[in-house]
Amino acid sequence: MEPTALAQRYAAVKAGIPPGVTLVAVSKTRSVAEIQALYDLGHRAFGENYPQELREKAPQLPGDITWHFIGHLQRSNVKHVVPLAHLIHGVEDQRLLDEVQKRAAALDRTCDVLLQVHIAQEETKHGLSPEELRAAVVTWPWAAWPNVRVRGLMGMATNTDDAARVRAEFEGLKRLFDEVRGGAPFAQDVPPVLSMGMSGDASIAIAAGSTLVRIGTAIFGAR
Ligand SMILES: *Cc1c(COP(=O)(O)O)cnc(C)c1O
Repeated sequence: MEPTALAQRYAAVKAGIPPGVTLVAVSKTRSVAEIQALYDLGHRAFGENYPQELREKAPQLPGDITWHFIGHLQRSNVKHVVPLAHLIHGVEDQRLLDEVQKRAAALDRTCDVLLQVHIAQEETKHGLSPEELRAAVVTWPWAAWPNVRVRGLMGMATNTDDAARVRAEFEGLKRLFDEVRGGAPFAQDVPPVLSMGMSGDASIAIAAGSTLVRIGTAIFGAR
């Protein structure tokens, strides 16, 4: 049987990802059937941006999928996301951490999160500035969130054809990661996570030291 277009794209993407780098297949806007088709090819890690979509799709799909919440998370949605998410990528303020703590404690579990850093030259991308992150690491009351496990950082580069700029942004995030990862909030007993790289810039991100890429279009086709 001919491999499907999905199988071909998936194989091509996987071929560019070295061992030790996690591939999260970004399934926002994709149907349950499309996600199931990739699951049937052996893939288990999926990323969703919208709480409502995650809530609708997750119960219809196999229980051994690890769901990554990669979108902008609002406090009102934390209660829906914490029970489903294996890792929440975009945490950027203390009130959100308060809410994740509350919901994780209620479930008697630990919730893994990444702190989002703003590295792009675009106003629309969320996250802490590098200076805010450095300050947060030393001044935020991390002990107040015992059910939150901070695994690392997440960032998005500027959406541009200028590869040198994208490379500089990712390399800057990697340096920041190496600078802060030994500090108070970061779990030391599990491998640290540096989530950077999407369909258009994954190879640059991997060269710069990404440990996790979030790829949608290159696997599923154009949205
Ligand atoms: C949509 C999205 C992706 C995947 O983008 P593609 O260009 O389709 O690979 C990755 N990360 C985040 C945060 C996204 O919102």
